[in-house]
Amino acid sequence: MKIGSIFNDVIKSFFSAPVTEKYPFEKPETAVRFRGKLSFDPSKCTGCNLCSKDCPANAIEIVIIDRAAKRFVARYNMDRCVYCAQCIQSCKFKCLDMPNDDWELAALNKDSFAVNYGKDEDIASFMERFAVSKAEPVQEG
Ligand code: SF4
Ligand code: SF4
Repeated sequence: MKIGSIFNDVIKSFFSAPVTEKYPFEKPETAVRFRGKLSFDPSKCTGCNLCSKDCPANAIEIVIIDRAAKRFVARYNMDRCVYCAQCIQSCKFKCLDMPNDDWELAALNKDSFAVNYGKDEDIASFMERFAVSKAEPVQEG
């Protein structure tokens, strides 16, 4: 490569915008089918647990507080999740989703990867009932 052509590139780069993304100052758009963090709608859930049975990574668990009153807590371990979306396929009631705009999941604390979904009172009741920390599996019986 000739020195002259390098010089041309240097001059050009002074007057052109950088190609790097401005993240985290500007959040880039993701593809429509990109799978972000799992979401859960307890109001549609039946507690059938198909999502949990079909999960290959043991990353989701549905705790039934009161089936008749539709009180459920979904425990999701996003650090175990392989984002395969099998749970979404298995759920016949469309309770689960992986929105493409919720993907900023990095954290410094391992506990942040264990998420409990549901109403606040149901999560509190479940934590008290099973006396578990956020990341432990539930021992029902
Ligand atoms: S996306 Fe796959 S790994 Fe993650 S919770 Fe659902 S079934 Fe399990
Ligand atoms: S498969 Fe759907 S309805 Fe069944 S427990 Fe899971 S989230 Fe609830």
